[in-house]
Amino acid sequence: MQKTPLLTRRDLLKVGSSLGVGSLLPLSALSANTLPTQARIVILGGGAAGMAMANRLTRRLQGGSITLVEPRETHHYQPGWTLVASGVWNADKTMRPNAQFMPRGVNWVREYAANIDADSKRITLASGTTLGYDFLVVATGIQLNYHLIEGMTPELVGQHGIGSVYASIEGASRTNHAIQTWLNSGQGKGIFTAAPTPVKCAGAPLKMTFTTLSRLEASGQRDAFTLDYMAPGAGLFSQPWVDEFVKQRFDDQGVKRRHHYRLSAIDPHAKQAEFAFVGPESEFTSHHELREAEFRRDNQPTVIADYDFIHVVPPMSAHDFVKQSDLIAQDGPFRGEWLDVDIHTLQHNRYPEVFGIGDVIGAPINKTAASVKAQAPVVEENLLAVMQGKTPPARHTGYTSCPMITGIGKAMLVEFGYADNFAFMPSFPFIDPTDESWAAWVMKDRMLQPAYYAVLEGQA
Ligand SMILES: Cc1cc2nc3c(=O)[nH]c(=O)nc-3n(C[C@H](O)[C@H](O)[C@H](O)COP(=O)(O)OP(=O)(O)OC[C@H]3O[C@@H](n4cnc5c(N)ncnc54)[C@H](O)[C@@H]3O)c2cc1C
Repeated sequence: MQKTPLLTRRDLLKVGSSLGVGSLLPLSALSANTLPTQARIVILGGGAAGMAMANRLTRRLQGGSITLVEPRETHHYQPGWTLVASGVWNADKTMRPNAQFMPRGVNWVREYAANIDADSKRITLASGTTLGYDFLVVATGIQLNYHLIEGMTPELVGQHGIGSVYASIEGASRTNHAIQTWLNSGQGKGIFTAAPTPVKCAGAPLKMTFTTLSRLEASGQRDAFTLDYMAPGAGLFSQPWVDEFVKQRFDDQGVKRRHHYRLSAIDPHAKQAEFAFVGPESEFTSHHELREAEFRRDNQPTVIADYDFIHVVPPMSAHDFVKQSDLIAQDGPFRGEWLDVDIHTLQHNRYPEVFGIGDVIGAPINKTAASVKAQAPVVEENLLAVMQGKTPPARHTGYTSCPMITGIGKAMLVEFGYADNFAFMPSFPFIDPTDESWAAWVMKDRMLQPAYYAVLEGQA
């Protein structure tokens, strides 16, 4: 089953240059066809998606105003958090000042947005100030709903054997320490969980299981530990081939899989977790039907499990202020939880002057920085078209990518999109998406971060 072909040095250099190709493009090519305008454009959220859009639109528009609403001073490279939580990277490596990426001429509002009134095209900020817009880009990312797990808070991460790679960069560091403390204890039971909602980087909970297995195997005491993986659906990953691969690998490595269970409550002092049985029909998709209101159902059968270490993955959704706005999906699989956009044009389905990008959108796959890279040129072209009264011409294929870490030092570069039941869309002809390799690990460890910063700068 295990194949680990290595790429040649020449192939690796080709990978590096392909990743950097956007940053090598001459500026003139990127800034072709500028549009004179008087429009007021507001971008909500200055993470991977919002910052990429601010840089792209600054280059394409002459006149008008671009306002970016982003409360944080520091940009977090979240794809590095799995490496921090696995003890491979230091936390410092994942942080840069937002000012470093902020394009000149953009009005940076360092505040939280609190309300969107899409009918009157007005944003209210946390301070009560309002901002009017002609065009709006929503890029506010994801809300972590730890509160839907009774007894759980993000502050618990790092204590009582609790880890969670998602909580924050500090949480990722504390997760590493919690895993190490468990390993140092020499024995015990670890439970790895997944969420019954879409999550950012759906591979991250699997990566945490695989890197912990590597650490356990390296300790020479693997047999003294047990690992369970509790999945809310029948599958573990949306790409069918990868789903089967991970299941087989878990079985081979002695990870006991239990399906159709979601983490419903945690008792940190007793080190016990409660799991609700969500029914045999529950499926893994990135658009699970379970929504916030349904988490409180009390007629679900539950089981209580003891643990020495538990990796908690919170349910996720758009932020509350987006959920409370007119922009939230009103029917279909994303209703009440995610932004209502056309999954190909990324234009809002009911408010044509609004676009969505990044984790906030309702789409069957797509909550990765790799998706942001694919979406940003589409939103740029389509927004400019709409500003000129034209039909959006560009279409997003659903491209997403996950360097699926299958152990410390090896990974698979899994790239896929909407078409043909999430068929692979490999970018590099010499990397087989079904092969584990050291090269894919090197990409995750060394090469993706500069490529990611190029996306933020609007250059890739
Ligand atoms: C553990 C982990 C591992 C990951 N691994 C990978 C990987 O290997 N590959 C990959 O491609 N992707 C990975 N990702 C996913 C990737 O980081 C996200 O998909 C990407 O950051 C999405 O960009 P975004 O702009 O939509 O959201 P974010 O980058 O999260 O940015 C959202 C921004 O909105 C701001 N915001 C929030 N609320 C408000 C408000 N009310 N008003 C104004 N601003 C607001 C926030 O401050 C934030 O800056 C990983 C993520 C995590 C957490």
